Amino acid sequence: MKIGFIGLGNMGAPMAANLAKAGHEVTGFDLAPYDVDGVAKAGSAAAAAAGREAVLTMLPNGEILASVMAEIAPAAMKGAVLIDCSTVDVAAARAAHETAAAAGLLSVDAPVSGGVGGASGGTLTFMCGGSDEAFAAAQPLFEIMGQKTVHCGGAGAGQSAKICNNMILGATMIVTCEAFALADKLGLSRQAMFDVVSTSSGYSWSMNAYCPAPGIGPQSPSDNDYKPGFAASLMLKDLNLSQQAAEAAGAATPIGAHAARLYAAMVEEGGGGKDFSAMLPRLETMKRD
Ligand code: NAD
Repeated sequence: MKIGFIGLGNMGAPMAANLAKAGHEVTGFDLAPYDVDGVAKAGSAAAAAAGREAVLTMLPNGEILASVMAEIAPAAMKGAVLIDCSTVDVAAARAAHETAAAAGLLSVDAPVSGGVGGASGGTLTFMCGGSDEAFAAAQPLFEIMGQKTVHCGGAGAGQSAKICNNMILGATMIVTCEAFALADKLGLSRQAMFDVVSTSSGYSWSMNAYCPAPGIGPQSPSDNDYKPGFAASLMLKDLNLSQQAAEAAGAATPIGAHAARLYAAMVEEGGGGKDFSAMLPRLETMKRD
């Protein structure tokens, strides 16, 4: 298949590399310099999209997605499928579907879970919104880049699922970090904390797969001085998206709202470029009110 891939950052680069490795002809574009194994370089987003049967985007936010969509929709081949894997607000996802439909293109909002490790290992989870036809056209590519794909419903349904998932992730990471900070003060070893919680009812992805305490559990950003991984600024973005959606839907999300405030404070203090698990060193220096 001829594939265009726009946005070759922490996530996009390994995803594009996996598509190329699987034998697809992948052409990429990013505003920043990049070098991805097996991926040819185009001079613009429109050039990366023109003549491709599928065009993937993996971009920072909804505003950027809208500007890239405006460039690629007129350039793309009729009947091509546009697959946006970025995490954006539900309204931006629906707007991207409308832009695609107006240009005679199929489209899927397909945000992912699994982080950079999942992107490199081809083990992402894709949560998708769009028509059955668009989903069917995109599915063979999801199978290369991921291990689980859920068709959640129509336009925007993938993003709805993503922001709910990430609200849980943000909140569980904070409380996992709180538990480590408390355990430290109680004189419990971090290894004992991990061994107990990872096999007890407090277990979670944040503890078991992405432990925020360095030196224990599987390799994670905490072992690399909290270099992301998944930056705190992106977690704040997702928590704000969940709060925006909760506000619009009239849903009560008190813990999600508090998690958003804690990540906002971390970002304001200059920690936005650190991995979101760096909430642990931040909590260790915080005073109890
Ligand atoms: P990133 O900042 O590393 O990558 C984004 C890339 O988009 C950058 O390389 C940037 O140069 C490029 N870009 C920006 N504007 C562009 C434009 N107009 N045209 C072409 N390229 C442009 O971010 P990331 O960590 O790869 O995340 C990408 C998306 O995936 C975000 O929406 C994020 O929320 C989501 N996500 C990230 C993770 C993670 O663990 N990093 C996990 C799940 C979802």
